[in-house]
Amino acid sequence: MEKKPFIMGNWKMHLTLKEGVEFAQSLRDHLSEKNTVLCGICPSFVFLKDICSVVEGSDIFVAAQNIHSDESGPYTGEVSAVMVREVGCTHVLIGHSERRHIFGETDTFINAKIKTALSNNLKPILCVGEKLDEREDGRTKYVVKNQIKDGLQGIRADQMGDLSIAYEPVWAIGTGKTALPEQANEVHSFIRKILADEYGEHVANTTYIQYGGSAKPENTEELLAQPDIDGLLVGGASIKLESFLKIIETSLSVIG
Ligand code: PEP
Repeated sequence: MEKKPFIMGNWKMHLTLKEGVEFAQSLRDHLSEKNTVLCGICPSFVFLKDICSVVEGSDIFVAAQNIHSDESGPYTGEVSAVMVREVGCTHVLIGHSERRHIFGETDTFINAKIKTALSNNLKPILCVGEKLDEREDGRTKYVVKNQIKDGLQGIRADQMGDLSIAYEPVWAIGTGKTALPEQANEVHSFIRKILADEYGEHVANTTYIQYGGSAKPENTEELLAQPDIDGLLVGGASIKLESFLKIIETSLSVIG
């Protein structure tokens, strides 16, 4: 890995306001002297403003876990790109597998969200990944390719600098089963090839591709040692300060 590692903690529907604020304060204090890692957290919508205030002025960025594809409208319970930008978010997760498979989000909807994020100055992290049956049927590359092609439909090369991709095999999310580092890297390098075909070598080489799926302190080093893994999207191990800090420490040591 040649880029600064990009480590992102997805808190999902975990942590109270007090816990989140304390976590963010400690993270900010810890990282104040170490800005060699790109680090972000994705709190619940309702705490975004508080967490953004805590990390303001630091290198830590705050991402929303989702947005709607429209900037405003009659969508009870939804939150827009304009709103999360207004409270200080710089990034947003789009197409997380829990959104795809629990809430039925389609590639078309995901593509519309990416366009809305970009036009509102929010950096999208497009999450892709195959389910267990798809891997077992040998369809991993087919599934991932379609998710990337459909998700990025209409996105121009000059917009790609603001976008990153997270490869998260669904069978490895929250299950304790991590993809073998070589197994993950094979898909990462396949994704880079898709980007190269679509946008050219420069975009392919500069786009961050994170791995997600039971990433933890114990496997951080071997995952980041892979040439096409540029960072980690961490779920379970990101809601405990100690393990998230350990992941960051380890990622620093990988780049030396
Ligand atoms: C995630 O939800 O993006 C994730 C990777 O979760 P976990 O690390 O818990 O597998």
